[in-house]
Amino acid sequence: MVLQYYLLNRWFQSLHEDSLEKVADEVAACKKCRLCESRRNAVPGEGLNVAKVMFIGEAPGEQEDIQGRPFVGSAGKLLTEFLESVGLKRNEVFITNTVKCRPPNNRPPRTDESSACQEYLQRQLRLVNPRIICPMGNSAIRTVMNVEQTVSQIHGIPFEIAASTFFPMYHPAAALYTSSLRKVMEDDFKKLRGLIDSLN
Ligand code: URA
Ligand code: SF4
Repeated sequence: MVLQYYLLNRWFQSLHEDSLEKVADEVAACKKCRLCESRRNAVPGEGLNVAKVMFIGEAPGEQEDIQGRPFVGSAGKLLTEFLESVGLKRNEVFITNTVKCRPPNNRPPRTDESSACQEYLQRQLRLVNPRIICPMGNSAIRTVMNVEQTVSQIHGIPFEIAASTFFPMYHPAAALYTSSLRKVMEDDFKKLRGLIDSLN
């Protein structure tokens, strides 16, 4: 009887508990901004639900929109390479974006779209509770760190803001366009590896 009560209680609680699956389901059905009109698939994000590190890009691109997965196009391949170069696998980190639907022609997300979508990223941050948050590129840095500096000024430097550790990085797409940034990004990933290793 006590056990049945306990199980019923757990089940009842689970109906109200937030989860990454819940966030993903809501994102898939979301119509809170105009980006829902042109998307093929929403891209909630993916990875380990207790990841130590969370990578945040700007918005899904064409390949991501087609596949419903983050960072699977050319920038994504480079991100995967950077991760592997320091012994990290995609499935042991969490990867997502500031907005979950692709803006038409890859234009930057508008302020009202970013605001409408913020709730999902905030819930993912709370649920994954990463030790290190890595916004990649100016747009993600502005959205999650709320600072004015540009990526060229603050990349590769850890910041403590409101009890969270941020490690801003260049967006891998930047290294596709400017090949000299590849080395800069490799060095930042090595620093990130050091930071992860220093955690415990
Ligand atoms: N660029 C991003 O910012 N996010 C993706 O998921 C892919 C490319
Ligand atoms: Fe909803 Fe975000 Fe997609 Fe806009 S971008 S429709 S807020 S999930």
